[in-house]
Amino acid sequence: MATTNQVRDWWHLYRCSYGSPTNMFGRSPVYAQNTEWVRALEQAHFNAGYFPTEGGYIGSKRNCPNGIGGKTCQENGNDCSLHNYGLAWDVEYNFNPHIKQATSESQLWDLFNEGVTKYNPDIVDRILAVKNTHGEQMFSWLGYSLGDFMHWQINVPPERQDVDWSTVGDSEMDMQWSDIVDDATWAKAYEDGFIEGNPAVMPQYYFADGPATEDEKKNAYNHIMREQMERTK
Ligand SMILES: [Zn+2]
Repeated sequence: MATTNQVRDWWHLYRCSYGSPTNMFGRSPVYAQNTEWVRALEQAHFNAGYFPTEGGYIGSKRNCPNGIGGKTCQENGNDCSLHNYGLAWDVEYNFNPHIKQATSESQLWDLFNEGVTKYNPDIVDRILAVKNTHGEQMFSWLGYSLGDFMHWQINVPPERQDVDWSTVGDSEMDMQWSDIVDDATWAKAYEDGFIEGNPAVMPQYYFADGPATEDEKKNAYNHIMREQMERTK
């Protein structure tokens, strides 16, 4: 597994940039530097038998320059979370807590068995089996190392980010929810019942430090819209 430092280094040009607003499980925009990963991560969850739970949220910290633990994300990458790069996703954070005190493997097994998280070793292994087209592990999970059960991050450099879809597998559940979010897509998805965020009342945002305030939501939403306008110019 690539260390977080290594990934920061590979992707340093992406620090505090805004990726594409993308859905995962039809939930809250995830900011990703490549929407293909999010689709692969989502599909791998389905294939491993992990399905969204009602009321589960997806988070991706976008409140740069705030980095890890309230510190400022530095130009050299110090104190930056991979969320600051659009390279990490918190999957259903309200069902997969960050149990900071879990340090030993046996403690982690206890937590799995107690149902503290929706993940189990089998699900995790199947998602970790996703490879890029160079045969390298696509994602890493911080449950084992940090007790951060919600947290997935990219494990490859930008030049080797293509997903080997044969390693993702296939399930009855189609990857239909991860797509770039524009107003029309959002409205249609809401109408069809695929997402819970009514575009008329503002999407629900989550920042790793906690739920976003109304002002933060508004700022994030405006930023997305500005980015989209830039891209379609
Ligand atoms: Zn995280």
